[in-house]
Amino acid sequence: QKFVYDFTEGNKDLKDLLGGKGANLAEMTNLGLPVPPGFTITTEACKVYLESGAEPPALRFEVGAHLEALERRMGKKLGQADDPLLVSVRSGARFSMPGMMDTVLNIGLSDASVAGLAAQAGDERFAWDSYRRLIQMFGRTVLGIDGDLFEEALEEAKRERGAATDVDLDADDLRRLVGTFKDIVAERAGRDFPQDPREQMDLAIRAVFDSWNGDRARLYRRQERIPHDLGTAVNVCSMVFGNLGPTADSKGGGTGVAFTRDPASGRQGVYGDYLANAQGEDVVAGIRNTVPLAELERIDKSSYDRLMEIMEILENHYRDLCDIEFTIERGKLWMLQTRVGKRTAAAAFRIATQLVDQGLIDEAEALRRVNGAQLAQLMFPRFEEKRIGDGGAERIGWGIAASPGAAVGKAVFDSYTAIKWSRSGEKVILVRRETNPDDLDGMIAAEGILTSRGGKTSHAAVVARGMGKTCVCGAEELEVDTKRRCLSAPGGVVVEEGDVISVDGSTGKVYRGEVPVVPSPVVEYFEGRTHAGAEDADELVEAVHRIMAYADRVRRLRVRANADNAEDALRARRFGAQGIGLCRTEHMFLGERRELVERLILADTDTERQEALARLMPRQKDDFVELFEAMDGLPVTVRLLDPPLHEFLPDITELSVRVALAEARKEPHENELRLLQAVHRLHEQNPMLGLRGVRLGLVIPGLFTMQVRAIAEAVAERRAAGGDPRAEIMIPLVGTVQELEIVREDAEKVIAEVEGTHDVSLDLALGTMIELPRAALTAGQIAECADFFSFGTNDLTQTVWAFSRDDVEASFFTAYLEKGIFGVSPFETIDVDGVGSLVRSAAEAGRATRPGLKLGVCGEHGGDPESVHFFHSVGLDYVSCSPFRIPVARLEAGRAAM
Ligand code: PEP
Ligand code: MG
Repeated sequence: QKFVYDFTEGNKDLKDLLGGKGANLAEMTNLGLPVPPGFTITTEACKVYLESGAEPPALRFEVGAHLEALERRMGKKLGQADDPLLVSVRSGARFSMPGMMDTVLNIGLSDASVAGLAAQAGDERFAWDSYRRLIQMFGRTVLGIDGDLFEEALEEAKRERGAATDVDLDADDLRRLVGTFKDIVAERAGRDFPQDPREQMDLAIRAVFDSWNGDRARLYRRQERIPHDLGTAVNVCSMVFGNLGPTADSKGGGTGVAFTRDPASGRQGVYGDYLANAQGEDVVAGIRNTVPLAELERIDKSSYDRLMEIMEILENHYRDLCDIEFTIERGKLWMLQTRVGKRTAAAAFRIATQLVDQGLIDEAEALRRVNGAQLAQLMFPRFEEKRIGDGGAERIGWGIAASPGAAVGKAVFDSYTAIKWSRSGEKVILVRRETNPDDLDGMIAAEGILTSRGGKTSHAAVVARGMGKTCVCGAEELEVDTKRRCLSAPGGVVVEEGDVISVDGSTGKVYRGEVPVVPSPVVEYFEGRTHAGAEDADELVEAVHRIMAYADRVRRLRVRANADNAEDALRARRFGAQGIGLCRTEHMFLGERRELVERLILADTDTERQEALARLMPRQKDDFVELFEAMDGLPVTVRLLDPPLHEFLPDITELSVRVALAEARKEPHENELRLLQAVHRLHEQNPMLGLRGVRLGLVIPGLFTMQVRAIAEAVAERRAAGGDPRAEIMIPLVGTVQELEIVREDAEKVIAEVEGTHDVSLDLALGTMIELPRAALTAGQIAECADFFSFGTNDLTQTVWAFSRDDVEASFFTAYLEKGIFGVSPFETIDVDGVGSLVRSAAEAGRATRPGLKLGVCGEHGGDPESVHFFHSVGLDYVSCSPFRIPVARLEAGRAAM
């Protein structure tokens, strides 16, 4: 097994082995682009280390051989006293994890070689500054010393010197600071800073391996659903310096980040940040303020032109938006990294269609380049520009639109408060001068993030975009004081902790107070309304339209809606629903009708029951008529009543109190008492496992037949009116075919009666939900009696896991998520291995009995992107989800079919 690859040996398709950064450095090297020579240690080596606690024995030799080759090519040795080769040691996993893992620069500097570097660079100050950076970074990441100790020593040095910035420290100051830093190391790490360059390198490599399992990295992976066992690669790359200081012709050097298109809007143009006289990490860390990349043209035209040329090469080669890190050393441009860049949801759609128009990709590829989560994001509301002042909100700042969306919440100034307040139900905006990886939990808890420092590539911006969180960064006129917990804006405006602010991640504007919110143009488009013309809205809507049309063309799964009334049904239709997959009839008995159901359930005598049913029937029928009209020509699956009893009965405690009070006051309370006795009789410890679904239908005579009659009558009425109603009757919570047989027999009688009265054939299909393990396990038998199956994955998940769907999220799920037992709730994304395997086998068994059996799913999973792919793979005919998620399901069904 080979553990080390030279940059000339790899390519972009080896990301699993070389990590994203390593694979792309190799790709650029082989494209002939200026990449500083180096090599990559594979993720396999990291895995061996993480599993066994020691580097694979061969690694040391392989690294040695590659280092020698590098030294030969560079004509100098690592740490050579008179002219040292210096290298960076950087992490680089399969998936980008910005700022989550470790990097050490300037490896190879020592007491001996610092003078050699000074001589070669002709700049003593630069050499000592590089050395102190090495000790600082090495001390923090490799030796685990608190980074603040170094920062404080640096501040102290500046104070002594009366220096405003680092740049004001001269070579002697920095030499002294190196001494101080070495003392800190000796004292805190119990060892001297290693002078042997190879030892520096080996320890740094190990530290990068270790950083894979750091707390920040683990949390980030869980959030992003990145598996924990991938490991990271390590890139060892010869150093180039952007901080050699500006030379007389002002070409000097610097470092920057560039995008081949705007990652926020997708627009073509020059986007990025540049920082003169700086070294790599300074830009990403957002520590000093950068200038827009376009300025580079003025500062160093030839490097700028070359960069533009390389950006075009990269974009054509990768056929996608690329982001780039580069450094200019004394007028020579070097590429330090590229990758297919992260982007906002809007940019993803726009770029995909732009690339189709440029002939770089085809429509199928465009569909692969977007996803349902992005589409869902675009369906969020935005701020209403015209009405900003209505609620007294005023603009207090304008920063960089780093991650779109409209966030309103109370300002908080640290992660801890963000988490605490959000747990108690408050919406919060996390306000920081700049964020660092320790703010991650707070960013997750917040509605949005606001920083006063840093560019589009700062930590806050990159991480927020990845999470789909609204973020404005670099709002420089805002003064953030985290100690006093307030924010001051020009004109003496002060926002204290707890004051409401509104943050517009699409424009970068920040408001004090609450700004009214408008629907997204994408939703307006789906609704068939004209949208409130935000600047880029037209292009975005067109891109969404084109990609949706393509998804619809290629998908095999049909998409239906879960809807219980005409209004939802009509909206679902506008969103592209091809029918209703679940009409929950118990939802038709909420509000004032609840009492009618209560009466039915509590009825003692046949007469009482008949009366209750007779009052329910016409209301049911009218609801169905409306629903069938709204969905004319499309299938509507009506599920017979399935309420857990307790939802329809008076609260037992409340009722007991009422009775007790009446007794004490000696008031008449016969009715209450009767009711209380009935409620006691029907009370269940586990209502979810109790008298509901088909069981209720079998226990309360006449209930299901009343519902079937109402459906049949409604169909007949719609037919008579010239409509095309297509009802399907669905029986819930079936566990055995015998239940279904009984219901079916009764239902068929009623349907035949109605057909006779109206002299029409109603073509009513009768099927069942598969939502209990026993139903799934005996699906072959059940199919004998069912025209269709619809998987109720909510109850199926509940019963397969024995997790109460109503309680679990609030009780132990957080602990489970934290422990990584699952990365996402099984109620949100289908548990493929458990619940999914039952779905798969039931689908097969059902179709073995009845070829062509229609199969769908109507649990919440029907609108979840990952689950849609699974349902496609097991051959279902349709998914059914809430109206708002229909576009997402259509898109993902298209993507699944590719
Ligand atoms: C289900 O159980 O998945 C389902 C759709 O039914 P309900 O959510 O109404 O129980
Ligand atoms: Mg159910």
